[in-house]
Amino acid sequence: MSIERVDPKFKHEIMNMPGAERIHLCFQCGTCTADCVIARFSDFYKPRKIARMVQLGLKERLLSNDDLWLCTTCFTCVDHCPQGVEVSSIVRALRNMTVREKRRMPRVFKAFASNILKSGYVYLMPESRLKRREAEGLPPLPKSKIEDVAKLFEATGFSEILESAESFDKVETKAGD
Ligand code: SF4
Ligand code: SF4
Repeated sequence: MSIERVDPKFKHEIMNMPGAERIHLCFQCGTCTADCVIARFSDFYKPRKIARMVQLGLKERLLSNDDLWLCTTCFTCVDHCPQGVEVSSIVRALRNMTVREKRRMPRVFKAFASNILKSGYVYLMPESRLKRREAEGLPPLPKSKIEDVAKLFEATGFSEILESAESFDKVETKAGD
């Protein structure tokens, strides 16, 4: 590994994000990887390894690996970590950074974000389902304030990111390195 690929500020950038403050306390016990529901199916996706790569400042290698999107956010790693490190939140911080800096996200996440912008809901309910709700005597779905959602997207710069971000379908598992 060449020293040019190490970003000494990276760990601190991540530590400034909510939930990721305790990354420096990881002592590499491996409990998170042993219990992770995804780690057994991926050569790259090992929470212990991700925590170490953050500590070492391997920003480019982390942000260019699509396997980051495999995390299910099940929080098993968080519940079991003896050091109180929230790997799940660290992965969320890495994903946010990937979207912001690389303008890249899985197609399904892009679709969810567009749906929220259009309707306030992650899932666009088809007319047939709405009619079925009515027929079953269920109340109408609560109305979302989509103007407020649009303002939020605009104020955070996410509208522009959403428009320009490249999307991809398949997460390829890569050999560990
Ligand atoms: S369980 Fe916690 S301390 Fe152990 S490797 Fe994972 S993040 Fe680090
Ligand atoms: S939250 Fe993500 S990293 Fe943690 S155990 Fe679940 S799938 Fe693995």
